[in-house]
Amino acid sequence: MLDIKSMTAQELKDYLTAQGYPAFRAAQIRDWLHHGASDFDEMNNLPAELRKKLKTSCYISVATIEKKQVSRYDRTVKYLFALSDGECVESVLMQYRHGYSVCISTQVGCKMGCTFCATGRSGFSRDLTASEMLAQIETASRDQHIRISNVVLMGMGEPLDNFDNVLRFLELVGDEKGLGIGMRHITLSTCGIVPKIDALAQKKLQINLAVSLHAPNDAIRAQTMPVARVYPMDELLRACRDYFRSTGRRVTFEYALIDGVNDSDACARELGRRLRGMKSHVNLIPVNSVEGTGYQKSHLERQRSFADILSDYGVNSTVRRTLGSDIDASCGQLRRRHMKKSKNEGGQSLGSFQQK
Ligand code: SAH
Ligand code: SF4
Repeated sequence: MLDIKSMTAQELKDYLTAQGYPAFRAAQIRDWLHHGASDFDEMNNLPAELRKKLKTSCYISVATIEKKQVSRYDRTVKYLFALSDGECVESVLMQYRHGYSVCISTQVGCKMGCTFCATGRSGFSRDLTASEMLAQIETASRDQHIRISNVVLMGMGEPLDNFDNVLRFLELVGDEKGLGIGMRHITLSTCGIVPKIDALAQKKLQINLAVSLHAPNDAIRAQTMPVARVYPMDELLRACRDYFRSTGRRVTFEYALIDGVNDSDACARELGRRLRGMKSHVNLIPVNSVEGTGYQKSHLERQRSFADILSDYGVNSTVRRTLGSDIDASCGQLRRRHMKKSKNEGGQSLGSFQQK
């Protein structure tokens, strides 16, 4: 069966004309898909015979709401979406002054195994298709009756480990007749798969790149991020400089402050030395303590001191405002609970939100 929502306009046209249908049917079908049709039978301006043909050869991928949590503090909404095969992924909808932003998943689980990450601790099931990435945005937008202007690929999964589907998604999400979200409004976050960052830079897309650094050197980085053993920081920072050079887009570094692991003044100084002179910004995020990791967030004075030292080196940073702090807004946690609950009825209830 063909994944019709992952096809580009041209691919759909080619597919229909190869079957002997006129090319204008492609625009009609895409119009239905953009308006949220989940069944070919809804497409009542198509001949019955074409609908029947589509039903036997194609499917429309969906993300249906399995669970939803709305923050009492800031209206951040966290979704657990069910996909066509019953797998679940998480997305988070956030409201900012400039509009709505959604954080979407790119894989069911993740292979990268970062020790602080709920997704990494749950293993890997499969890649998402481009249409499943689109469906997360569409369902959230429809559910809240809003237009979403920004997308971050920062949910479950490593986007650069699902490179082709992510590139296809980036092509489709900009479609003016559909979501119409421009490249400059998209941020892709990666744990640092260097050859894929290079390949992305070659594409010269105008998307923002965020790199999860979380340490000032390879030794500390390798303690929490196995990928650091494959791609050392020097190579990673070289790839980030090249990304900036070929796209003109500033790179953001994510740095989760973990008490006693990567938050000392010495760590801040080392990071400052390495990032000095780069066109970049550091997002300092007090780590979300995930069950079973034993990691705790750094104290407030530590967070401030870390940022002050970076600024001594001319490195800009902000301690990230935590949105949805009452709803497990760090991706992977909701799904983990959901899986536990379905395995074991005595498991933790989704109603008892963890306070962070
Ligand atoms: N795989 C990509 C994108 C998904 S993770 C990546 O690693 O960048 C999105 C962001 O959440 C990353 O910066 C990741 O390091 C961070 N993250 C994961 N678990 C976290 C936790 N417990 N606390 C704070 N940040 C976390
Ligand atoms: Fe995967 Fe990113 Fe989590 Fe690491 S932090 S395990 S790369 S999702």
